[in-house]
Amino acid sequence: MASKPGRQMIVRMIAVMLILTLSLLLISGYRLVDIMIINGEKYQNDASEQQLYDSLITAPRGDIYDRNMQVLARSTTAWTVYITPNGIRKLKDENEKETVRKTIAEKLSSILEMDYEKVYEDTGKNSYYVIVKKKIEKPVADKVREFLADEQYKDLELVKYVGLDETTKRYYPNDSLASVVLGFVGSDDQGLGGIESYYDNELTGIAGRVVAAKNAAGTDMPLTYERVEGAVKGKSLVLTLDAYIQYTAEKYLEAAIEEHKIAERGAAVVMNVKNGAVLAMAIKGDFNPNDPFTLSKADKAAVDKLKTEEEKQKLENELLNRQWRNKAVSDTYEPGSVFKLITASAALEENLVNNKSTFYCNGTATVAGQGYKCHKAGGHGSQSLQEAISNSCNPAFITIGQLLGVSSFSKYFKAFGFGEKTGIDLPGEAMSTYYGEEKMGPVELASSSFGQTFNITPVQLLAATAACVNGGYLVQPHLLEKMLDENNKVTATGPDGYKRQVISETTSSTMRSLMQFVAENGAKNALVAGYNIGAKTGTSQKMAKILATGDNYLYIGSCVTVAPIEDPEIAVLVLLDEPKGDKYYGGMIAAPTNSKIMTDVLPYLGYEASYSEEEYKNLTVSVPEVTDMKLADAEKKIKAANLEYETVGGGDKVIRQLPESGKQVLKGGIVILYTEKSGDKTAKVPNFIGLTATQANQAAARAGINIEFSGNTSSAGIKAYKQSIAANESVEAGTIVTVYFMDDTVVDG
Ligand SMILES: [Zn+2]
Repeated sequence: MASKPGRQMIVRMIAVMLILTLSLLLISGYRLVDIMIINGEKYQNDASEQQLYDSLITAPRGDIYDRNMQVLARSTTAWTVYITPNGIRKLKDENEKETVRKTIAEKLSSILEMDYEKVYEDTGKNSYYVIVKKKIEKPVADKVREFLADEQYKDLELVKYVGLDETTKRYYPNDSLASVVLGFVGSDDQGLGGIESYYDNELTGIAGRVVAAKNAAGTDMPLTYERVEGAVKGKSLVLTLDAYIQYTAEKYLEAAIEEHKIAERGAAVVMNVKNGAVLAMAIKGDFNPNDPFTLSKADKAAVDKLKTEEEKQKLENELLNRQWRNKAVSDTYEPGSVFKLITASAALEENLVNNKSTFYCNGTATVAGQGYKCHKAGGHGSQSLQEAISNSCNPAFITIGQLLGVSSFSKYFKAFGFGEKTGIDLPGEAMSTYYGEEKMGPVELASSSFGQTFNITPVQLLAATAACVNGGYLVQPHLLEKMLDENNKVTATGPDGYKRQVISETTSSTMRSLMQFVAENGAKNALVAGYNIGAKTGTSQKMAKILATGDNYLYIGSCVTVAPIEDPEIAVLVLLDEPKGDKYYGGMIAAPTNSKIMTDVLPYLGYEASYSEEEYKNLTVSVPEVTDMKLADAEKKIKAANLEYETVGGGDKVIRQLPESGKQVLKGGIVILYTEKSGDKTAKVPNFIGLTATQANQAAARAGINIEFSGNTSSAGIKAYKQSIAANESVEAGTIVTVYFMDDTVVDG
């Protein structure tokens, strides 16, 4: 047995450690905190019976908030359970030693839900510090404490061999909300993706330390040595994201992915066009950052289907990477017709076209021997500029591209930001690929003019669209609003201002009216009842994958909308990759999602709706609560809510109502009031398919049921294409049927 070290020896040991630490710092350039984390939470000197005990005080990682200070990510207290096997080894009585080992293994394995054998093995290791489990939460830590304080094990003195170290754990209270943007952290709290990774240095705090000399059992030696350095919490981030808008975008994006059987995920981004602040960046399918290594059920099933472990591992890694990937920032795509906005802006700015220009389309265009078909067989004939955009006529845009020429086209392509990364504060931003001026011939110019033969990111397109309508300024898309220190003092703010002006205020004003014309004539499914908006839709074929796989049915449908068009504040871009349903045009699959997002977000942002007469008729109202009320009072209340009623039974009190209170139905809908326990009044669901909103309303009233509209109904050409309950089915009177509307004449290739 070595003798107890004197004060001098301890000082020497500390000196050795400091030198070691400093040399590591010099060698690697790592900060102290990194070394401590990488090397584990405690140092010890096994060579001596006594040890230098260096305990890390984990610094909490900074919190992440949305712009209304709603918590998106925070660090909570957690505990690491450790044991001191060398303390157990010191026990002289073999029976006692075995009892201690078995008791610890049995109780800890049960409390921590671990394998008994594994914990038992740990208790026999030659070490002073073995971690049994990291980052357990309070209820579990309390159970460990209860076990250690249990009277029945009093004689075993278990506190000498089992301990809890306080640490922190990352927690995302909203589960998958904004997961791809937020990212997640690894086992040592290091940021792995998204904001957590991009701002890892700022979020990471500075660990504190307790350095003390201890004896073999790990208990502090009194009056020997102790030094404490407090931990410093990392910076907290306030993002530009708005949790409500994020939630709204995710909800409708997810519904669109399901309805149109989207195979390669989708994105929906909401950005302030005046300053580039991203209010929502929804990416689906995503993951839960509290549990980032778990695949979705469908992905897991795909992995399980494979035969060999190697294949399974490979696919699992691919799918994990896919669910973490930010489709709006890290993936590129051909924008297709949405890009016509940029071509038009450039030609307007160069005074090559104006509102009086006409473009003739006979159905085809030939450039340097290469033929291009218009999606409209026979052609659009003579069109104004706004008609050419609204018709999404490729031959017209080939003409506009030719007017611009390679040099001007390339100049504006770059001015609008397509030749550079946007610099958004997220990791892994992809670079666009395109024909540079020197490589662009007439054929490349033709297809580039209508958005093909180059690849850009969704966030680049959104920034360029913002410049089209905000007076011509290219803004910096960003997620950081401000950074706060421990005392909530602002230490940094997100970007302000703009990068450059790319078109004039006048051109931008023309673009706003063009986009409004497109929304009202060519992209009706994007319309928002009560508001004037601008829109452009697009559908592009995934040429590279088509050539590689031979599968011709590979599309990306997208739509961009801006509102309110009089003075746009927000732009919404929805992109759906590889629809496998019966529709694939951006104007049919993406535009309705834009409409739903805007319908919720505009009133939320404080914009008041102003309904047309037709829109006003189609508004929904909330069914009031009238159950248990006197019949006469109930009838008055229903009428006051702009609804009709029908009474079943001869009583004078309402004992049941349908629809229930709180349900949304169209104005003028019917509420069935039961005053007796009679049988249900039934009704037959009409066939709504092909009807206009007004016709559907009349059919519902005749049948004695309620309807709820999905999709925009404010234009007469829009007809029902689906209903939630099949025609001729017998239902209880008053039942609500959802009727889906769409303008299915949209073509935007
Ligand atoms: Zn045409």
